[in-house]
Amino acid sequence: VILKPDAVQRALIGEIIARYERLGLKLVGLKMMVPSADQIEQHYTLDPQWRRVTGEKTIASYKSRGLTPPSEDPLEITAKILKNLKGYMTAGPVIAMVWEGAHAVELVRKITGGTEPRGAAVGTIRGDFVVDSYIMADTDNRAVRNLIHGSGSVEEANMEIPHWFSEKELINYRVSREDVM
Ligand code: ADP
Ligand code: MG
Repeated sequence: VILKPDAVQRALIGEIIARYERLGLKLVGLKMMVPSADQIEQHYTLDPQWRRVTGEKTIASYKSRGLTPPSEDPLEITAKILKNLKGYMTAGPVIAMVWEGAHAVELVRKITGGTEPRGAAVGTIRGDFVVDSYIMADTDNRAVRNLIHGSGSVEEANMEIPHWFSEKELINYRVSREDVM
């Protein structure tokens, strides 16, 4: 999980961490940094499918609302998103975290909510705290502001964790609640 610069600027660090903690996940790594543009580009392209999938997701979102997408070519759409993401994600400090637990990736995604805050379910972090949409982001020529990055799959998490953390920065420890949970 990465708390993006808007989460830090909006003083939502504690609120967001509390939600993952409350669910019962265990924090095993945490650091604050200002990422470089290279670090962000590498992060988003660790998964070779990400460009295509993200472009397709955007096109589908536009069409489901009867809107015309900015392009029919997913890769063209993602090229612009990636450029804007580099600006967004390097604009200030972020907080990178590793949360451990059964089904951690799936459960983090569930309580974080969908990528586009406009459609993110009520009760999710993105649904509760953000007003933004693809169309607003495109109009302003920026990335959609949605507070959080969460790995999209276990495979993605396995690539992202070593991208952000060294092995000795991840702590193996027990908490007493593990016995009752
Ligand atoms: P998620 O963060 O939910 O895994 P993606 O991996 O598809 O979503 O996209 C990465 C990030 O790129 C999003 O969190 C968002 O900040 C930005 N983004 C994705 N699609 C768009 C879009 N169509 N317009 C603007 N920004 C976007
Ligand atoms: Mg993603």
